[in-house]
Amino acid sequence: EKLKKGLEKTKTSFGDKLDSVLKVFKKIDDDLYDELEEALIMADAGVETSMYIIDELKKKVKENHLTEADEVRGAIKEIIADILSENDNEVKLSGSPAVVMVIGVNGVGKTTSIGKMASLFKSEGKKVILGAGDTFRAAAVDQLQVWAERVGVDIIKHQEGADPGAVMFDSISAAKARGADVLIFDTAGRLHNKKNLMDELKKIYKIIERELPNSSKEVLLVLDATTGQNALSQAKLFGEAADITGIVLTKLDGTAKGGIVIAIGHEQKIGVKFIGVGEGVDDLQKFNAQDFADALF
Ligand code: GDP
Repeated sequence: EKLKKGLEKTKTSFGDKLDSVLKVFKKIDDDLYDELEEALIMADAGVETSMYIIDELKKKVKENHLTEADEVRGAIKEIIADILSENDNEVKLSGSPAVVMVIGVNGVGKTTSIGKMASLFKSEGKKVILGAGDTFRAAAVDQLQVWAERVGVDIIKHQEGADPGAVMFDSISAAKARGADVLIFDTAGRLHNKKNLMDELKKIYKIIERELPNSSKEVLLVLDATTGQNALSQAKLFGEAADITGIVLTKLDGTAKGGIVIAIGHEQKIGVKFIGVGEGVDDLQKFNAQDFADALF
């Protein structure tokens, strides 16, 4: 239900557009394919991905002798669900503690997503600890602290300007000592200096590898769905700086560009693991490919 509500705007631009195209169609011809492709591109599914979807649709129409609007709609839904389930959408949380390192540029909803994740994991009975690794901005630490208090989890922080690697080291020690199940670690979101960012993320990751060789290590990139194709270029950039294991796509409720989820899946080959559908603490959902495809129409 929350998913349906969160995707309302995207459904209007995407599902309803597809439906209006299908409603008036007489026969399956090139004009129909063109209109469907345009609807996909309008919803920010991306040109490459939209072309791929239409190509797959043509195959299905031919192989299965589809003629009805409902059949075409069903086929599109199936193709989208297939694209979205090609990548790993499962959040891995094993070891004591499991580590979830969160990366992304400022403003995309990183802090909020960390708070929501902490709440979600906590509701599953896990003991969560936060590490304030964005030492570049004092405000970032303060905001994370507010979330820690709201959700009721511990936070490890250093002074502004401190070495994020040292924060990671302390966070791991504290997590071990306090028997935490999950350590969620915030990182700085500066993108203007790729070399610095890369070095910093690598350094932090090395500490996790050294201290927690047997723990699962998620590196989640937070992207703002309202930025559409911009999110896709951020995924490319961060992909060069870190081995991303999954995407957190925020603000889906505020955009008609939900098609970006499909583009990320198809073009970046990275699984979406969480989606943000509102500002509240409960407005983060584990991503499910089929549910998402269903909610689009
Ligand atoms: P950060 O700079 O990346 O840490 O971004 P913040 O976590 O501070 O979030 C920036 C703004 O986006 C805040 O006003 C959040 O409430 C808002 N925000 C984050 N996630 C979502 C979401 O899923 N939906 C909506 N509508 N707003 C969100």
